[in-house]
Amino acid sequence: YQVQVDGEIFVAPIVINAAGVYADEIHNMICEEKIRIVPRRGEYRLMDKNCGDLVNSTIFQQPSKMGKGILVTPTVHGNLLVGPTAEDIPDKQDVDTTAEGLTKVLNLGSNSVDALDGRQTITSFAGLRAHLVHEEPAEKSDFLIGEAEGHPGFIDVAGIESPGLTSAPAIGEYVARIVKNIYPAERKTDFIDSRKGIPSMALATEEEREALIRENPAFANVICRCELVTEGEILEAIHRPVGATTLDGVKRRTRAGMGRCQAGFCSPKTLEILSRELHLDLAQITKEGTGSEILTGKNKDTAPGEGGTWKRTQAPVGKEALHE
Ligand SMILES: Cc1cc2nc3c(=O)[nH]c(=O)nc-3n(C[C@H](O)[C@H](O)[C@H](O)COP(=O)(O)OP(=O)(O)OC[C@H]3O[C@@H](n4cnc5c(N)ncnc54)[C@H](O)[C@@H]3O)c2cc1C
Repeated sequence: YQVQVDGEIFVAPIVINAAGVYADEIHNMICEEKIRIVPRRGEYRLMDKNCGDLVNSTIFQQPSKMGKGILVTPTVHGNLLVGPTAEDIPDKQDVDTTAEGLTKVLNLGSNSVDALDGRQTITSFAGLRAHLVHEEPAEKSDFLIGEAEGHPGFIDVAGIESPGLTSAPAIGEYVARIVKNIYPAERKTDFIDSRKGIPSMALATEEEREALIRENPAFANVICRCELVTEGEILEAIHRPVGATTLDGVKRRTRAGMGRCQAGFCSPKTLEILSRELHLDLAQITKEGTGSEILTGKNKDTAPGEGGTWKRTQAPVGKEALHE
């Protein structure tokens, strides 16, 4: 098979099609029997930590043919998560939240927990499930996993709807066995089978905190006040293999910006750290890659290094627009 990535062509004996909502397009390039994936959008509200103990386990409702329904659940970090909706939409990129969807989340969630207060929502977001539709014959058809008929080495992992995340480790092992049957790969003996996490000041004991600060005083410099994330943790996130290069990259690795103020306080500081550590201009640092630049230049027409304050992009970037 030839796989083209950014203009470069790779030749591979095995292709694993795990392209989420786009898995139908990849499948249909190769296979005669076509499949269709409809994006099924789900919207969520994330509530402040002061609601985190309203429930102590996940409260499910009666599932419907659209899915598992709206749930109310505590998160591992102590927030409360309410959602998701389930709505088939035409656009595979449309992860916008809607007033209608978020109202529905609150109203239906209130059937399970009547103390839900919409004003405690600190952020909202949406994701797309890859809903596999089989018109002919009409049959239930999620989790399409296996080598495509008549196309040796082309392996579909398509239509991985909920609970695809929970199933991911098992799917990975299953697909590895399929690959091994086709391609006699030997298991590496020197692979690294564990990963040392980034230290967390929020979770550390007093003694651990002191030790970290002694080792590197940057662990005493709090950057994200809501989640108690320090410069030391952000530096680790940036300088590890496959290090963070964007605000979202730092956020996903450390939780800086995930708290009540949703990065209002820490994003300028995180921007400065990224710029300093990656030797990039502040205007080159993005939220989540090209097109999500945060600063456009300086307010006054001064040459770089001659003062002036930085200008933000006029429209808030992406989904954050909703929350500003
Ligand atoms: C609202 C919602 C609620 C959910 N709830 C749960 C739950 O409670 N429990 C649970 O277990 N699961 C849940 N899931 C499902 C879970 O998120 C999915 O099953 C899982 O993410 C599917 O994994 P995937 O790898 O198949 O697809 P994805 O996670 O979508 O990954 C596909 C990847 O392929 C990339 N890609 C696409 N096209 C190309 C291309 N042409 N070239 C290169 N890369 C490409 C995409 O960028 C993406 O990174 C939920 C999903 C949603 C949306």
